[in-house]
Amino acid sequence: MRAVLDHVGVAVKDLAAALAFYRDALGLDVEGAEDVASQRVRAHFVPVGGAALELLEATAADSPIAKYVEKRGPGLHHITLRVEDINAALAQLKSRGVRLIDEQPRPGAEHALVAFIHPSAAHGVLVELKQAAVAGRQSSVRRFALGDLELVSVCDGFFHLDGGAMFGVVPKPLWSARAPADDRNRITMAMRPLIVRGARTMIIDAGLGDKENAKFAEIYGVDRARNLDHSLAEAGLSADDIDIVLATHLHFDHAGGFTMRDASGRVRPRFPRAQYVVRRGEWEDATHPHERNKASYFADNYVPLADAGVLQLVDEDQTIMPGVRVQRTGGHTTHHQMVVIESGGKTAAFVADMMPTTAHLPGPWIMGYDLYPMDTLAAKNAFVKDAVANETLVFFEHDPATPAGYIKEEHGKRRVVPA
Ligand SMILES: [Zn+2]
Ligand SMILES: [Zn+2]
Repeated sequence: MRAVLDHVGVAVKDLAAALAFYRDALGLDVEGAEDVASQRVRAHFVPVGGAALELLEATAADSPIAKYVEKRGPGLHHITLRVEDINAALAQLKSRGVRLIDEQPRPGAEHALVAFIHPSAAHGVLVELKQAAVAGRQSSVRRFALGDLELVSVCDGFFHLDGGAMFGVVPKPLWSARAPADDRNRITMAMRPLIVRGARTMIIDAGLGDKENAKFAEIYGVDRARNLDHSLAEAGLSADDIDIVLATHLHFDHAGGFTMRDASGRVRPRFPRAQYVVRRGEWEDATHPHERNKASYFADNYVPLADAGVLQLVDEDQTIMPGVRVQRTGGHTTHHQMVVIESGGKTAAFVADMMPTTAHLPGPWIMGYDLYPMDTLAAKNAFVKDAVANETLVFFEHDPATPAGYIKEEHGKRRVVPA
């Protein structure tokens, strides 16, 4: 396994005193704190070169850090090694009989997945394994060449949805091994629009945007500390560069970023030069929601596009710009569509909510939100068969760690190899 030193954890008894040393005396930068509810600790990151120090402060008397400090006093607590695939790393360790504290990964700071190895197996050191989320302290932008096109995966931050709802009929012991739940049973979801640069510049979906209020942010655990604005800037783009905005469907986590509130409070298109392309059936459903889907459709995200005259409705599967075509999947919503991108004999696909994360790869792992799960199943199985045969580069819009990968199938078992 390949691993790099991510950080060294230091258990702190008196945070003010610790800051007086690490920040004031040493003169190091201390980043904003983050609470890790599952561990009842607050983590303060201190970057040092490629790695960091992590000052750990207990937030409750029963926190593992509080117990550690009580028993041994403050000091070095753990080292963290970053790996690419934490499930593969744990499987390797298990096969060698290494004693683990966590048999399965759980949520850590910055939307990472983490698991601890028992100190008795690591010669007295508590070792944490970590699979980082793309878009934490590192870059949120991933670039891929596809023939004459450039594909740029960007990120509008993270939100959280009930894990049970995200995996439908799959029991928690199964899904939580792939997508660990927080203390409110929620799993972490990224929002990753895709930019296609070719004859024109297109963005597919645009994340949540910033029109929602604090109550919404609390319910959905929204973290947009690093959002689409940061991602676009990092990719060397601005909202003015976007010619076409293409919608897979109009749920708020995909279309929220289509509009913005201006200084006068009026909602207007977020990409000032763009034409917005939406499937007509989806538009009809979104503008006439029913009891089952109305929690996902907010008129402010798309009605202002029609008012501004920048809306283009398409009726069927077709090419939107050279190399980019839409294909209806149904299932999640009646007119949910994926985007197929082809250039230079290579194929990529942006599958949106047909397969929101890599954990949704098995046929029956389907969201409870889907209106027609049997349609999702059929569309997904047909797609996966094709994607395996064609070596399609698949984009997973909501995956916290893996923006894109290739699907492999061996002995009936599917897996994703991150790209
Ligand atoms: Zn959706
Ligand atoms: Zn979604």
